[in-house]
Amino acid sequence: MRQDEFDKYVDKAIRCDTTACSAPAGPLPVLTPDKLARLTALLAAGRENVWYNSGDWGTVREAVKQMDHRECLVCKAMGRHSPARVVHHVKHLRDRPDLALSIYDPDTGARQLISVCKDCHERLHPESQRQYRPHFSPLTAERWD
Ligand SMILES: [Zn+2]
Ligand SMILES: [Zn+2]
Repeated sequence: MRQDEFDKYVDKAIRCDTTACSAPAGPLPVLTPDKLARLTALLAAGRENVWYNSGDWGTVREAVKQMDHRECLVCKAMGRHSPARVVHHVKHLRDRPDLALSIYDPDTGARQLISVCKDCHERLHPESQRQYRPHFSPLTAERWD
C-alpha cells in the first residue's frame, strides 16, 4: 500500500465518528506541569523509556486498549481485524510531550492515542528505521508508543 493511502486510513482511524470510540473508563491520570517537566527532561536525555515504564502511561495505555477492544484502529479502518500491540501517539511524544497522556487531541477533537498493530506502528514511525534504530538495541515494540 502506498504511503498516501495508508495515511488516509490513519486519518479515518483517528476520527471517532468512524471508529465508534467508546468512552474511557475513568478516572485517568493527568499530566501535571511537574510531570510534563519531568517528561521533557527525560526526552532531552534520550531516556523516555523511563516514562514509558511509568504507572501513568501504563494506566492510560490500558484504558486506550480497552476503548479500542484491543484491535488495531488503522486495520479496522481498512476493514481488517488485527490485535493491538501498542498504543501510539498520533502527534509524536517528542513533538508534543504535553499530549503524552491525552486520549483526544484538544486542537482537533480527534484521537491522539490509538491502539495499533505492530505492522501499522512501524509504518507510523519511519524515523525509527533510519534515525533511531542504530542507537538502541534491543528495540521493544512498546518503545515506540
Ligand atoms: Zn494495523
Ligand atoms: Zn508510536
